[in-house]
Amino acid sequence: RQGSGGQTKVDGATILARALKEQGVEYMFGIVGVPIIEVAMAAQAAGIKFIHMRNEQAASYAASAIGYLTKRPAVCLTVSGPGVIHAFAGMANAQENCWPLIVVGGSCDQDQESMGGFQECPQVEQARPYCKYSARPPSLDRIPFVVEKAVRQCIFGRPGVAYIDMSGDMIVGKVAEQSVRFLQNCPAPPAMYASPANVSKAVDLLTRAKKPLIIVGKGAAYAGSEWVVRDLVDTTRLPFLPTPMGKGVVPDSHPLCVSPARSKALQEADVVLLLGARLNWMLHFGIPPRFNPNVQTIQVDISLEEIGNNVFPAVLLPGDISAVVQQLLDEFRRRPQQFQFDSSAPWWKTLNTKISENQKNVEGMCNDHSVPLNYYAALAEVQKALPKDCIIVNEGGNTMDIGRTMLPNQLPRHRLDAGTFGTMGVGIGFALAAALWCRDYAPGKRVVCIEGDSAFGFSGMEIETLARYQLPVVIIIFNNNGIFFGLRSEMWEDVADSDRTLTVPPTGLAPETRYEKLIEAFGGTGYLVHSIPQLRSSLQAAMSDTKRSSIINVMIDPMAQRKPQEFFWLTKSNL
Ligand code: ADP
Repeated sequence: RQGSGGQTKVDGATILARALKEQGVEYMFGIVGVPIIEVAMAAQAAGIKFIHMRNEQAASYAASAIGYLTKRPAVCLTVSGPGVIHAFAGMANAQENCWPLIVVGGSCDQDQESMGGFQECPQVEQARPYCKYSARPPSLDRIPFVVEKAVRQCIFGRPGVAYIDMSGDMIVGKVAEQSVRFLQNCPAPPAMYASPANVSKAVDLLTRAKKPLIIVGKGAAYAGSEWVVRDLVDTTRLPFLPTPMGKGVVPDSHPLCVSPARSKALQEADVVLLLGARLNWMLHFGIPPRFNPNVQTIQVDISLEEIGNNVFPAVLLPGDISAVVQQLLDEFRRRPQQFQFDSSAPWWKTLNTKISENQKNVEGMCNDHSVPLNYYAALAEVQKALPKDCIIVNEGGNTMDIGRTMLPNQLPRHRLDAGTFGTMGVGIGFALAAALWCRDYAPGKRVVCIEGDSAFGFSGMEIETLARYQLPVVIIIFNNNGIFFGLRSEMWEDVADSDRTLTVPPTGLAPETRYEKLIEAFGGTGYLVHSIPQLRSSLQAAMSDTKRSSIINVMIDPMAQRKPQEFFWLTKSNL
């Protein structure tokens, strides 16, 4: 490592790895090949845990889940060209979810650029729409500068994604060690407060509201603001509604949670306090018929650019959720008369009537144990078997939609699903990252991954990665033979001898596929389930195995559906 002048030389891979380590990066997920194998080796030498995955998509999903759970980015490492392009899936998903993530992509040697180099691709430009910052270090000694900037861009302001491009010649190229200056670890973003006048206006509005509602989004979960948000709910006794990944910031079992009356609460609320949730498709754009046309919103968001999207708020509270909610609490407490929303107000009567009505509707389906099983019955059984503190990963069409209502969360950041981008195929990558995080920071906590059969197919091979790193995940596959619905076995017989490209419905997958056998190839245990008693005993056995992953393959009626809904979830108007 001595240069001709007697100076110690260091290569680009080592500088990159050390710079990432200096910035607190703990995990790197990826797939090696030309030209980045040296980067993975240097990362391990620097003490960064390297998880070798089977597909860059899953690697980028896994890295982004670490970003959500820890508020610090993990790295997804990819080869040039196709490797980077596969990782765009995770970049787009993380960027849409506002989660930190750094993707490091290898690229062809600079002296082969424009010559049709191996996997040559304009990656810095291509990555740009999927991230906040995309750059190739201009020289080896500037690598730490680019790494610090990438980390800072990921976590400051609205969290998001950064891309760092490393050409092959930079990875193996060397410079004198003294010429490289490592930057200090970027601190957590500073708390940002809203204007006191607006805080006071917000409290006035909430105090006067007849039908107030707090909406708790995944921004509140990411921000780690559970302590203040719980305090706000307990102090004001205002009803609250979590979004899917906002679940658990305040426990779903809290008596002021109005999730079972979601549509009613949204439709009639006259003042909405939005805590880290966008008024996008997931909240029906905040407009009629799903929202009250006269609703007044109070919007808390770290991103000023977000404020006013679709509905201009009555009160703007740009800032960090923890800081702003603390301001709201202080303002409530400063007032001479302690405000508490009246538990006998007509609003509670409306909400409680709807809650019991909806709970009754679902009860019938939960108690219907006929075979093949329906979603509600199977999910009710799964819910009974889940430890209260487990991390739930949930994706698939009906499996996720119904799972959201049937699987309660008591803790924040304990639900990972298809998210803002509606990305299917994230499940196994998320579960793997969550299991790794539990191994390191919450030993004994279980990860349960409840997947549709189609969703599982996207990244099913990552069960080998789970086995290789001894990460135990209970994977429950809701197998309805397709996407939305599939063919029953007897219907499959009708198409068996035809040209299947013309007769198998586009939603269909092969019937009754034995997914549980896949895990056995990697030393795990598989369970085939048709009935509730079988599901109960399989769950018991799988949950008690803390060493290996399991797959519980639950046969669901291919025709089973969600309970009838008043609104189609994607339209802006009534059906
Ligand atoms: P959901 O899917 O739960 O509705 P979204 O992802 O739509 O939530 O919204 C999350 C919002 O939270 C984003 O607009 C993001 O800017 C915001 N956010 C993220 N971190 C913070 C924070 N620390 N303080 C305030 N807002 C935040």
